[in-house]
Amino acid sequence: MPKEKVCVHCKRFVEGDVCPACKTSEFTRRWEGMVIVIDPDSEIAKTLEINAPGKYAISIIK
Ligand SMILES: [Zn+2]
Repeated sequence: MPKEKVCVHCKRFVEGDVCPACKTSEFTRRWEGMVIVIDPDSEIAKTLEINAPGKYAISIIK
């Protein structure tokens, strides 16, 4: 099963052709880990520099 695609800029999981946050279409399927952020003020969100709720990859493999 292919991995879902992730925006290379904000690490958000994107289902369409354009990242709703960055308005770009630069995606990767090479990522590791997944986090669902409900509260952008939480410690994990701050650590990962996430400022909006959503589903994010923890790291992108370069
Ligand atoms: Zn993005």
